[in-house]
Parts: sequence; structure tokens; C-alpha cells
Amino acid sequence: MELTKCSRCGSFYANEGYVCSKCSAKDNFELSTFKKYVEENGVELKPLSEIAVSTGISEKNLNRFLNYDGLEGYKKLFNKF
Ligand SMILES: [Zn+2]
Repeated sequence: MELTKCSRCGSFYANEGYVCSKCSAKDNFELSTFKKYVEENGVELKPLSEIAVSTGISEKNLNRFLNYDGLEGYKKLFNKF
């Protein structure tokens, strides 16, 4: 079984996904907050640092989210900055 290092808390885990099972609830919550923010604010997007302040999600986590499957479109929007 291959172990993956959780990018949120740094512990190793064996389950599927981007983060460990302890962090997945928080990760999913922040990801939906981020998606909702982008939907509500349209394509007039601000730098990630400003979104971090508005959503309370760290810039590091926002950058991780942009590499998630299904968020390629978001990544393109932010590559402008
Ligand atoms: Zn974790």
C-alpha cells in the first residue's frame, strides 16, 4: 500500500484523495467555500491573496485547490496574475 503525505497536516495516510481522512472534511468545506466565492464574484477575479483574506482560506490551500481535478478552469482564470 502506498502512503501519501497529507498536504494539510503532514501526516501519512493510505486512503484515496488529496488529504488524509482527518483533514478531508475541512478540505472539502474550504474547497466549496472557494468555488462558491468564485461563482458569486464572477470572473472579475482578484489575486489569490485577496481571496484568502475574503474566504479565510490560506493562500497555500487555495494554490493546492487549483491543482485539484475539475478545477483546471479556475486555474486558467488565476494564471492571469
Ligand atoms: Zn491531514
